Order: sequence, then structure tokens, then C-alpha cells
Amino acid sequence: MTQNAPTGRKMKGYSMPLFKLGKTHVPHRKNTADSMPVRMPPPAEVLIPTVMHIGAPATPIVAEGEPVFVGQKIAEAGGYVSAPIHASVSGTVKGIESIMRSDGRTVPAIRIESDGNMTPYKDLSVPAVTDFDSFSAAVRESGAVGLGGAGFPTSVKLDGEKKGLIRTVIINGAECEPYITSDTQTMLHDGADIYDGMMLLKRFISAEEFIIGVESNKQECINKLRLLFAEEESHDVKVVALPSTYPQGGEKILIYNLTGREVPEGKLPADAGCLVMNVTTLAFLGKYFRTGMPLVEKCVTVDGSAVLHPKNVIAPIGTPIEDVLAFAGGISDDVGKLLYGGPMMGIALHSIKDPILKTTNAVTVLNAKDALPKPTTPCIHCGRCVSACPMRLNPTQFSKALRLPSDEMVALLSEEKLGLCIECGCCSFVCPAGRPLVENNRIGKAKFKAALAANPVATGTAVKK
Ligand code: SF4
Ligand code: SF4
Repeated sequence: MTQNAPTGRKMKGYSMPLFKLGKTHVPHRKNTADSMPVRMPPPAEVLIPTVMHIGAPATPIVAEGEPVFVGQKIAEAGGYVSAPIHASVSGTVKGIESIMRSDGRTVPAIRIESDGNMTPYKDLSVPAVTDFDSFSAAVRESGAVGLGGAGFPTSVKLDGEKKGLIRTVIINGAECEPYITSDTQTMLHDGADIYDGMMLLKRFISAEEFIIGVESNKQECINKLRLLFAEEESHDVKVVALPSTYPQGGEKILIYNLTGREVPEGKLPADAGCLVMNVTTLAFLGKYFRTGMPLVEKCVTVDGSAVLHPKNVIAPIGTPIEDVLAFAGGISDDVGKLLYGGPMMGIALHSIKDPILKTTNAVTVLNAKDALPKPTTPCIHCGRCVSACPMRLNPTQFSKALRLPSDEMVALLSEEKLGLCIECGCCSFVCPAGRPLVENNRIGKAKFKAALAANPVATGTAVKK
């Protein structure tokens, strides 16, 4: 493993590494660590948004009343950074409607009434690949996006290979959020898919090294993976045990901790010579190139203090959350909060009828007591938020910027590099005053974007996404 000396960035006169090891200890609460995923029966209907990825919405290619089958393409990728979408159940298209996502954005969504048969589309076939271009094209057709939650189209990530940028392939098995164990289940039970996916990457990506990073508290996963890659043709795949700290699975943190390289502000992992892929995405690719079945289902951890029987559930994409919760055994009466994802980085659900997305790795349901925000008191300038930030940022400055006039706000957010904030929530987690720091960072990003849109010549690279 390379351990280059970090170039560092200047902060208050000192040259410091841009990142340090994510070192916050959050309670794991992984109640489903031993819960082998159970496939739920087809729901009565699914609602599949055309945006389940970073990039342009997909364009629907089916119409109301049309019969569809599992794996049939129902929406084309809407641009270079986009992904096609496939039917997750067989049945009839009921219509295309506008829905409001949890982030407040309104997007088209395709509603399909299930016939209960889960009949596969008859024209599915195993992709024939001979070179990188045909491999990349097949990955794009599969609908693959970052399944760890980011949703970046996988085929676009692969393009770093075409540009000759990729030196290191990193498979992310660091599932550091509390509660979530869906990637752990992939590592424990889908070894053949992981192996096949890795062999595809080794065949088509001309990287020097292939590394799987897994936290040391998942020793069984590490053992299984090391055994898997002990074979002659794959012995150069390294399985590296990482400290069990948060946010170990953050892409930039993982790159730094495994290679010593920094991803520059506003740049992608490829700019640091890396292709980072979530372990479940890798397993999906392995399976897709064996079966020809595109991305139509997702393993979702259902857990949290209001979940009666925590479970890992395999659900068709588009399944209403309420159906998944009912299949998992239901929730208590004192629900305080529903989240896509875990309690550190999760997004509050707009409605219990919201659908499972390609990027949904967990549904966390907290009871009223656990959902209560900490009482907020004035900042005592203890510096804990600064110490906890894995990106060496100063969250208090972002909060201060929000109180400034627009031009001064933009200048301060740029200077303090809000764009590097990965919204891990460590600052809020450690703050003894209960300051809503990560929330302020999100508001800061939105205000920064709006200010730049209103005045495009304003300086700053603070927010790129
Ligand atoms: S959320 Fe807070 S701790 Fe995490 S990167 Fe952003 S500023 Fe740093
Ligand atoms: S951790 Fe909270 S109280 Fe301490 S400096 Fe940061 S914002 Fe202020």
C-alpha cells in the first residue's frame, strides 16, 4: 500500500494534511449484523422515480397501460451523467406522475401495478464484452449507480480508465454508519458476485493495485474476502483492515487512509488516481454480467429504535417504505423520525409511502425520544467540532457565514472551503451545545449556490455539487 506524504493545505500558517483519519466513535447499534437478507414478496405496486442518481433525470420510454416485465428498460439515461431505469416488477404501467422527493425536488416517477408474477423480460441476455468500451457500455445499460448511497453513475466513474487516470481501484467495504449492515451482508453472503465483479475490473481497468477496505470490527467479512482472493489469479487483491471509526467509509477519507493521496477540492477520485466502488455495486456488476438482469432490487437494512424486528430485506426498487416496514415486522406507535440511510448522514423521509431507491441501503426509524434534537445553547468555543472534522474544517465559520450579507458569506464560505464538507455529521455529533452544524453546512451550500447563480462572477469553489 502506498503511503505518500500528504502535500497538506495551509491553515492559519501551518501546513497540515488535508485529511486525517476519521476518528469519531459513534455507537454501532448494528442489530442486523447477523440478519441474512430476506427477499420480500412483490408489492401491489411500485413507484420508480426517474432520478435515483446524480445527474440528469432519465427519460420515460413507456406509456400508461403498457405491460412491462422485470428488467425491462422503462426510462433512458437523460445525458452523459445519468442512468437508465428498469421495471422492478412485472405488471402494467399505471401512469407517470410528479412526486416530491425528500429533498423537496419534484421529479417524474413511473407507477407500475404488479401482477404478482415477477416475470423476467424475455429479451434480457448476458452482455457480451470484449474490451473496455463494450464493458463500459454494458455497465451503463445495467443502470448501475453507486449503491452505497452516493448514486454516481458507475459507467461515468469507469471513464477515468479511458483518460488513463486510474492507478488504484478501491472497493469500499467500510460500512461505518450506525445500524446499517446491508454491505456487510453482501460481503458475508455474496462472495461469488464480489469475486466475479473484481475479475471484471481486473480485466478491463489497467490499475496497479486493487484494494478492498473493510473496518476491523468486521473480521468475519475480512476473513471471507481474504479466502476469496487467495486464488492464484487474484492474489494481488489486497483486503485491508481499517480502524472502526467514523466516517471511515467516506470516499475521500478512504482514499487518503488507503493510499495517502488527497482528492483536491472540487475534484473527483480519478484526479487522485483512484476508482472507488462500493462493495455492493461491485457484487451487482458480478451478478449482472452472469445473469443479464439489470439493477431492479436492493438490500435494505430496516432498523432503529422504533423498529420492532430489525431485518435486512431485499425489496424491488420503487417499493413503498410502508410495505418494507410491514414485511420487516412493523414499527412501534411512538415514531419520531424516518430516514433514508442511517442517523448520521440519513435524509428525513417525506412520507411513509416514499419508495425504495437504487441508493437506499437502509431505512432507519427512530422513536420520539431518540428523534428529539439536543437542546441548543450558545457556542462555548470548545473546538470539539474542529477536532472531530475529518476534513480539517471549522464548522463554526460556516455558521457565522450564514449571518453575513451575501457577498461576504460567499467569500467566507469559499475561504473556509465549505465545498470540502462531506456532511458526515461528526461536528454536530460531538458539539456539547447541540449546535445544528451539519444542517447549517447544508443551508450554506444551498445559499452559496443560489448566490453564485444570481452573480456568476462571484469568486469561490466552495460548492460544486
Ligand atoms: S459535516 Fe462537519 S465534521 Fe463532517 S465534514 Fe462537514 S464540517 Fe466536517
Ligand atoms: S463543538 Fe459546539 S460549542 Fe464547541 S466550538 Fe464547536 S459549535 Fe462551539
